[in-house]
Amino acid sequence: MGETQPGGPLDLLDAAVATHGARPAIDFFGRRWSYAELGAQVARTARGLQDLGVGPGVRVGLCLPNSPYSVICYYAVLRAGGVVVNFNPLYVERELAQQIGDSGTTIMIALDAAMIMRKLAAIAGMAGLRMIVHCPLAAMLPLGRAWLLRLLRRRDFIARDAVRAGDCAVIPFRALLTRDAPPDPVAIDPLHDVAVLQYTGGTTGVPKGAMLTHAALHAGCAQTIQGLVGLEPGRERALIVMPLFHVFGMTVLMNTAVGIGAEMILLPRFEVRQMLRVIARRRATVLSAVPTIYTAVLAASETRRYDLSSLRFRGSGGAPLPEETQQRVEALFAGPVLEGYGLTETAGLVSMNTADGHIRRGSVGRALAATVIEIRDLADPTRLLPPGERGEVCVRGPQVMAGYWQRPGESAAAFVDGALRTGDAGYLDADGYLFLVDRIKDIVICAGYNVYPRVLEEALGRHPAVAEAAVIGRPDAYRGEAPVAFVTLREGHTTTPAALLDHLRDEVSKIELPREIEIRQSLPKTPIGKISKAALREGH
Ligand code: AMP
Repeated sequence: MGETQPGGPLDLLDAAVATHGARPAIDFFGRRWSYAELGAQVARTARGLQDLGVGPGVRVGLCLPNSPYSVICYYAVLRAGGVVVNFNPLYVERELAQQIGDSGTTIMIALDAAMIMRKLAAIAGMAGLRMIVHCPLAAMLPLGRAWLLRLLRRRDFIARDAVRAGDCAVIPFRALLTRDAPPDPVAIDPLHDVAVLQYTGGTTGVPKGAMLTHAALHAGCAQTIQGLVGLEPGRERALIVMPLFHVFGMTVLMNTAVGIGAEMILLPRFEVRQMLRVIARRRATVLSAVPTIYTAVLAASETRRYDLSSLRFRGSGGAPLPEETQQRVEALFAGPVLEGYGLTETAGLVSMNTADGHIRRGSVGRALAATVIEIRDLADPTRLLPPGERGEVCVRGPQVMAGYWQRPGESAAAFVDGALRTGDAGYLDADGYLFLVDRIKDIVICAGYNVYPRVLEEALGRHPAVAEAAVIGRPDAYRGEAPVAFVTLREGHTTTPAALLDHLRDEVSKIELPREIEIRQSLPKTPIGKISKAALREGH
């Protein structure tokens, strides 16, 4: 696969079907689909979608926890010529309605869990949905498990007549599969046609839909494969616990796995014991996840009981990997954790420490193929800064979004001289390794001095009792803003805020010391498992 050749996710799938047709593509609780079967399911589903009117430009929502439906429907919408709009199934009605309205989604494919269907049914008419396709989980499980699920959780899964969605039709997924005919071919211009509207987390104001073209997604996959030097096409097994509705799961895991004909072991939600058991039983070779998942692995008392030796590639991204965590995970696995950096707007990764040993501790690695990282002056972003100086991280590359959907003002503001402004502060070293300092909006301006929460979080993480730490700024009568810290403790450890403050006195300057340190049982997380500073700011 050429590193920047225009192509799209469908080319990845077609190549995998052609080359690795007999190899497993999906494992879902022990039930498997080969690449040939996946290709056939995608074609049939695409035919059904086209019969419903899906074609170029039609936005189809996916509101699915990780399951075979997520993979089949993603590629089927693209094959039908449509645009995928990823929805987080945990969104509340208001958030779902807002994103449906903003994206102009008319058809929603959703898991038929009561928790999801009730929300969709309540907003369907008002939000502009004309059809909901509901997907029964039991139909994708091995027989034994499907029976168990029907028996134990009957009330969770909804009967079709329980969903009343006004003028919006509600049909089962199997209704898409009735015609055994190939989909009509659709001409795609990979460089210009939008494949996915990927909504940003929305921690700052209204969520915006990043327009990711077919070519951007293809590049994001090719770049990840190049970073994971040594991957063996047709032989890897990737444990996918990161949600496929987020860019991390979609590109770095799903598209990349398909790009090398790997088996995707799908887990719909994160539960540490289950994940460890599945890695051990299925002999997973690739795990890529947010740092909080590694923290949970370290904290779980039974971790050492599982044989995790099959994992050849371990990746971390999405949020800072504290150095202390990195060292302990590397000791556990007796090998490196490759940290990468990316964002919704880059369809995947920007940089990573690569598996050929180009690793620098504390860094998120070097720019991936065909990618340029620029550091620009925080006050004057037209000014480029030399290595060693801190500024805003800006990115050029084939994986960068085409802009925000129907938001010309925000789209223009997201770029400077054609480079994407990430909103992250960082610096490059002389060898091109990127070090992230913090998100610009998270920097605490304390009596005119920039306090980087990440410095405090790392320092707190070096205390033997601390499992996780998060620091935010709070208004302060004297200093304007002051840092406040929240920590969780490692199992079997105790300490006090005063002891933690004493520890910090040896680690950071006086002005950086937090005004308060609160010890908590847990920290709020975003749906993909990052520590949520927005929730902490709101007092959760
Ligand atoms: P999202 O758009 O939800 O994927 O969030 C992207 C943001 O996550 C970036 O702008 C960074 O602030 C943060 N991020 C991603 N990867 C890393 C990393 N390895 N270290 C620190 N922050 C990261």
